[in-house]
Amino acid sequence: MIYFDNNATTQIDPAVLEVMLPYLHVQYGNPSSAYSFGKRAARAVETAREQVAALLKCEPTELIFTSCGTESDNTSIQSALMIDPDRKHLVTSKVEHSAIIKHAETLARRGYEVTWLDVDSDGMLDLDSLEGAIRDDTAAVSLMWANNETGALFPIEAVAEICRSKGTLFHTDAVQAVGKIDINLGNIPINFLSLSGHKLHAPKGIAALYVNRRTRFTPYLIGGGQENKRRGGTENTASIVALGKAAELAASALQEENSRVKALRDRFEQGILDTVAFVQVNGHREHRLPNTSNLAIEGVDSEGMLLLLDQRGICCSAGSACTAGSLEPSHVLKAMGYSNDRARGSLRFSFSRFNTEAEIAQGLEIIPAAIDRLRSMSRGVLAA
Ligand code: PLP
Repeated sequence: MIYFDNNATTQIDPAVLEVMLPYLHVQYGNPSSAYSFGKRAARAVETAREQVAALLKCEPTELIFTSCGTESDNTSIQSALMIDPDRKHLVTSKVEHSAIIKHAETLARRGYEVTWLDVDSDGMLDLDSLEGAIRDDTAAVSLMWANNETGALFPIEAVAEICRSKGTLFHTDAVQAVGKIDINLGNIPINFLSLSGHKLHAPKGIAALYVNRRTRFTPYLIGGGQENKRRGGTENTASIVALGKAAELAASALQEENSRVKALRDRFEQGILDTVAFVQVNGHREHRLPNTSNLAIEGVDSEGMLLLLDQRGICCSAGSACTAGSLEPSHVLKAMGYSNDRARGSLRFSFSRFNTEAEIAQGLEIIPAAIDRLRSMSRGVLAA
């Protein structure tokens, strides 16, 4: 199998697995227990918090461990709304992950107002529109750092400055950005940031939420006093330890992400563009994650391509999602102004430090041949 779908999820790094395993069987103490067996688990949780803080360049006390990126996203918005109940307006974009979009739609049905910002054909944001959208009653602006489909990067530093100058809370969904690009929270006035372990070689079901130490916060999960009374629920110690190790490894692999992984992505993308006619890159070619390539392949149906590539051992993603049996073109590609046909003919390839030159070479043999096959099949259907 060749795994080119690292924005969907990633392989657990063997070093991460090694450090987490003892907390599943030998060190199974509850971090809240008063005896030393529990305290050892509590210490491991605090070490992990320091490791994640080092990656983001923030204070460990600014981090709350959560169960997933979705929980971190939901918690931020809910906190902003609860802190100042008179503010009933949110600003976000049309290309966010469903963890933001579906939540905002739900809030809109409950009486909140949402402004949905557009993007241009490169997937880029217009900062003047953002500035114009923020009102006195805006509770929060939520904009993603990196788009999961195209890899497009929003100018988060500038966005954060605008929100600060307008006195509005700013949340960024950095689930796809953390571990792939350098993030320095010491330099940017962000109130909330979400990250998720399974995108950076930690297990699924563990994530974190950064809350700036000067930002008022109300918990979403109310229960025990865990996470300094900011998130009820017994800590997932093993996965927290794993996230800490994954963050430490990500910090030391950042250079590689931006050189070797980017070189693999570029070689792959150029290889496809050189050998296959009528292929275009979706999204900005410079302002994007180093690991992501989203390609529009004319005359090809991405679901058919996925099946064919699956048979040939390649995992990647389609620019459409199956919702209740019908193929919906990607909301991200549609927001960029692309036609349904272009969206339905788009594939996302996303790489990681575990990919090799040999896999890229194999991909460049298998994928162009698969595109040829599908194109000739659809020509046959048209001729028949
Ligand atoms: N936000 C973005 C941009 C994502 O890509 C994802 C996962 O695909 C999420 C949020 C949700 O993260 P999780 O799967 O940990 O809930």
